[in-house]
Amino acid sequence: MNAVAQADERQRLALRRPDLLREAGFVDGTWLETSERFEVSNPATGGVLARAARLGAAEADAAVAAAHAAFPAWSAQPAKARADILKDWRRLILEHAEDLARLMTAEQGKPLSEARGEVAYAAAFVEWFAEEARRVYGVTIPGHLADKRIVVTHEPVGVVAAITPWNFPAAMITRKVGPALAVGCTVVLKPSELTPLSALALAVLAEEAGLPAGVLNIVMGDAPAIGEVLTTDPRVRKFTFTGSTPVGKMLAARCAATVKRVSLELGGNAPFLVFDDADLDKAVAGAIASKFRNTGQTCVCANRFYVQAGIYDAFAARLAEAVAELRIGDGLEGPTDQGPLIDDRARGKVAAHVADALRDGARVLTGGAPAEGAGAFYQPTVLADVARDALLCREETFGPVAGLVRFETEQEAVALANATSAGLAAYVFTRDNSRVWRVGGALQYGMVGINTGLISTEVAPFGGVKESGLGREGSLFGVRDYVDTKTLCLEVEPV
Ligand code: NAP
Repeated sequence: MNAVAQADERQRLALRRPDLLREAGFVDGTWLETSERFEVSNPATGGVLARAARLGAAEADAAVAAAHAAFPAWSAQPAKARADILKDWRRLILEHAEDLARLMTAEQGKPLSEARGEVAYAAAFVEWFAEEARRVYGVTIPGHLADKRIVVTHEPVGVVAAITPWNFPAAMITRKVGPALAVGCTVVLKPSELTPLSALALAVLAEEAGLPAGVLNIVMGDAPAIGEVLTTDPRVRKFTFTGSTPVGKMLAARCAATVKRVSLELGGNAPFLVFDDADLDKAVAGAIASKFRNTGQTCVCANRFYVQAGIYDAFAARLAEAVAELRIGDGLEGPTDQGPLIDDRARGKVAAHVADALRDGARVLTGGAPAEGAGAFYQPTVLADVARDALLCREETFGPVAGLVRFETEQEAVALANATSAGLAAYVFTRDNSRVWRVGGALQYGMVGINTGLISTEVAPFGGVKESGLGREGSLFGVRDYVDTKTLCLEVEPV
């Protein structure tokens, strides 16, 4: 890709505020350049959008030092003062929502309508935690002896290191940075090198909102080198990660030596259960929302469809019809429903899962092959009669493929759904109220969507059980991972 093509990609962005596109890291309130660069590409075209500074261990160390130095003053501010800055940040995010959405679509590939939705979602976390900042209440506990008084407070843990993935380049950041800043922590963030531009644009706006130097720092580039600093430096008191399960496990293990608090939002393998008594329209709409959002690249995407025998054929036909209508394309060039996969490797994984299912007797109802275009496009696909032990059922596909498996009984469906080491999200479609409670209770998942395919909101706790993670983000629980509980035990002189 030559310089002219990069200029073309920039022009297509048509940003109202071109200065939101940054290529430098952000450390101690300063934009940090290096001569080493890495390319940030548009996955829909292959065109280069930016050549970002490739930072490493030295810059990560400087970022931790800056966050450490900024912590005493930031944590000493009244909660309202921090909340006011967060509210301004949210206002600026919404004011520049269109630019942020265009940047996101360009670097990540999702349809513009979804990028707009994610910017609003990202802003909602900032708003929510600005509100929560003032309600980090402690408790008083009746003393265990006549002369004792016990007061419990919640204090910010200190420097937080956050590593985030490419599939939600803005919301995965504000879901961590929002609560951390709200309670008084300072942050070093490493966004994915595939999508650093959204993160850097958010930092421009945070600075404009009045966030003091060193409170939020961003380093990207050499992930292993940066990760090594963030997981081993004793000044970092909390490590929060969203990404794949193997990388999360490896980084969490490194945090043990300095006993950091650790939160993990890892991979899922979501089952989608459709019972004979389901509302067919709702089940199909839920399947589209849950499976095909972000071209199947969300951690809560339905991954395996278990459909009861009595509704199987009708559901399969209706879903295939709806999926065949999804419009594929470059999100910056008109309305689309499906963007490209993030890269060729991701498309290769999808193709391998489809090939494996077909080898074992699955039938293609729609799609089933790569789609045309310069980027890593794959046709939205529905496969019927997928084997229960197919790769599609055992691993997170992370692509636009719905594989259908037939079942007979409720017990069978629950057993199939729980037969995995993942436990992030599950979906159930039924009109039987008793079944809702039975199955909802029996599913070993952190989140269960019942008659809906959309479960993410800033007001509800988000997170998994089993190997899908530790901790919860969003909601009233979302601040807990960023505070330490302190007990003050007072002895009082008798009257
Ligand atoms: P990934 O490969 O694990 O990458 C996630 C982050 O880790 C990126 O910033 C990446 O940096 C960084 N990283 C990779 N190797 C590293 C290392 N050795 N040291 C330090 N950092 C390292 O995951 P992904 O492919 O970006 O994201 C997709 C996965 O995330 C899926 O499994 C999905 O289910 C999961 N996810 C989970 C949630 C949730 O809330 N549970 C939400 C979204 C996504 P570079 O990109 O710069 O290499």
